[in-house]
This record gives sequence, C-alpha cells and structure tokens, in this order.
Amino acid sequence: MNLSDIITHLGEDRHEYCGSVGTPIFQSSNFSLNTVEHLRNVLKDEYHHPFYSRGYNPTVAILRKKIAALEGAEDALIFSSGSAAIAATIFNLVKAGDHIISVKKPYSWSNYLFTQILSKYSIETTMVDGTISENFEKAIQNNTKVIFIETPNSMTFELQNITEVVTIAKRHNCIVVLDNSYNSPLFQPAIELGVDLVCHSATKYISGHSDVLGGVVCGTKERINQIFKSEYMCIGASISAQDAALLIRGLRTLPIRMKQISENARRVADFLDNHSKIEKLYWPFANSNPQLELAKKQMKNCGGLMSITIKTDNYDGVERFVNALQKFLIATSWGGYESLVFPVCAFTESKENHLLPVPWNLVRIYIGLEDSEELISDLKQALEKV
Ligand SMILES: *Cc1c(COP(=O)(O)O)cnc(C)c1O
Repeated sequence: MNLSDIITHLGEDRHEYCGSVGTPIFQSSNFSLNTVEHLRNVLKDEYHHPFYSRGYNPTVAILRKKIAALEGAEDALIFSSGSAAIAATIFNLVKAGDHIISVKKPYSWSNYLFTQILSKYSIETTMVDGTISENFEKAIQNNTKVIFIETPNSMTFELQNITEVVTIAKRHNCIVVLDNSYNSPLFQPAIELGVDLVCHSATKYISGHSDVLGGVVCGTKERINQIFKSEYMCIGASISAQDAALLIRGLRTLPIRMKQISENARRVADFLDNHSKIEKLYWPFANSNPQLELAKKQMKNCGGLMSITIKTDNYDGVERFVNALQKFLIATSWGGYESLVFPVCAFTESKENHLLPVPWNLVRIYIGLEDSEELISDLKQALEKV
C-alpha cells in the first residue's frame, strides 16, 4: 500500500462513523455486546474486538493499523509512552536466568531497565560498542535471548549495522529489538532489514507537535499478540483515545514534516561541520561522520537531531552559547515543530564531577520546522559568545 493511502485511508472505516473525515474519538472505557454468545466470543479474542479500552479501543485500533503498515510490519501495539513500549517488549522476551546484549549508551530509561530493573530479576545485560558488529557475537552466551539496538543511538548517534546484527542474532537464535525513534517510521525500514520487533517513542516524530506522549512496538502478529495478552494488558500502559487521535493527526503530516526537517537539518549541519568554535559534530549524515557510508546505506534520510561539542575548557563557555540562543528552546525531547537545545552540562555543577558517558561539553540540538536561515544565524551569533 502506498504511503498516502496508509495515512489517509487505512483503518478508517468511515462508513461506520458518518463519513467523518477527521478521526472519531471513542471516549469510552467499555463496549457493550448484544448477547451472551457475542460476549463469549469477544472474551476469546480481546486482541481484535472492542470490549474494554485497556485492550482494544477503536480509535487506537486505527492507529495500530497505520503504524504497522508504515513500519512494514504485520501488527503494532500503542502504549502511553515510548519507555512503556520498550519495557513491555523486553519483559515479554526474557525470564530469570536469561541474558541480553544491548548497544552501549541506549536511551537513558532503556539503560535503567537493563542495568537496574532486570538485574533484580536475575536477567543480565552486556553492553557492547555497537560500531563493531563482531562485538555482539563475542558477547553471545548460551542464555542470550535478545539483542537490543538503537541505531543511531542517543546523544552521540553511533550506528550499528542492522543487517550484520540480524545475521548474528539468527545464527544464535536471538530476537533483535530496535529502538527506531530517531528515524521516524519513514527513514529506516527496519522490518525489511530483518529486525524482529521495532519500537518507537511516538512522543517524537509520530506526534510531531510536542503535545502527546506515546510509544509503539511493531512485529509479526504472533509476537505482537504474545505481548498483548501478557505485558500490554497487565502493565496497562495503553494510550487514551484522545491521544491516539492526536497521533493520527500527526501521521497525516509525517512525510511533509520529515522532508522539511531533514532539509533543515542538512543546512544546519553543513554550517556546523568544521565551525571554528566546534570540536565535533555528531549527525549520521554529516560529511565528517566516519560511519557515513553505513548511514547512507541503511537510512533513507536523516532526521533533525544532532549534537556538537563546544571548543571551550569550562562550563561557562557552553552556558554562554546555550543562553545566547534566541530561537532554540532549552528543553528535552524532540520531534515537534520547535527547535530545541539540551546541554549535557546541566546534569552536574562542574566538569570535575561529570559522570555521564558522553562529553561534558556536548550540546544536543534538535532542528525543527522553522526557517533554516533563521536557525543558522541564531547559532552563528551564539557561537560567537563561546
Ligand atoms: C524519548 C525516547 C524514548 C522514550 O520515549 P518516551 O515517549 O519519552 O517514553 C526512547 N528512546 C528514544 C531514542 C527516545 O528518544
């Protein structure tokens, strides 16, 4: 099915709701059945029928179909946040005594899940440098069940070679889970590359308007149903119909937003690459990226999230730069209209007590949908303040 049909038509049985062009919001926690026989049948298959909204809500069901199709997967589940989607997925795949291999420095709460929560239940995780695919194979143990990747990964955007990781996983009967948030459902066809389960923080590009938290996981019907009847129903981090409708609204403009964001990001990155006040630019499609060839091979295009390290020897230089920005909001998250900036130095008081595995002088920048010339001239004046 083509992209426009998925976004406009798939899942929208308009004849059932007065031809409504906008998405109908089923603001109901429960749904009534006609007969006991009908109830009995629905109880056997809550995965496919409206009964109780924690499991199935018709508005959320429209979104499920669209997200699955965009990822090229058979099915999808929608959660109330990206973290919930990742945690429920991982919990579903492992039991006490199992082993996980994760790329080093995944998203902070994925990192917490592996190192702090799962370790309490005798599930161990080995973190590897994912830029070298052999590292995954070297870390394999008899009890390894899952390989978790996030390419490009958070803050410094190192890539993992998806095809090579999938080949290693197949050889050892492991399931590959990918956090694909960076790429939106459009820029990295992970299912096509052999990934088993693809997660997103829908809070970012899928929403696209900085007003909804959401998460998704996509995969085969069988795997998705396994998660549905267990962690999805039990943890209950399902999304509301209102928020699902907002995510569907977000999808309507996803292709045009991603096009504009990637063009803006290209222009800004070209300005930042080799700027005299910048040590290093971290952006998968940067001409200076040593992994550029892999990036171009497995990503169709590149989003608006990038980082720079500032040439300065103390926190003040970084702070002067960030505080001087007029067009960028100091905020976490990304994926909306608004360009944002997030300095790592905010985590601690000084570089002497910096504990994070990323450079203290790193500033993450999200390039949104504003006029790129405006953003560049703002960065230019702020860099002069370093
Ligand atoms: C934001 C983010 C998450 C978590 O998503 P939430 O919707 O905030 O729970 C997971 N992975 C990545 C890469 C993210 O950027």
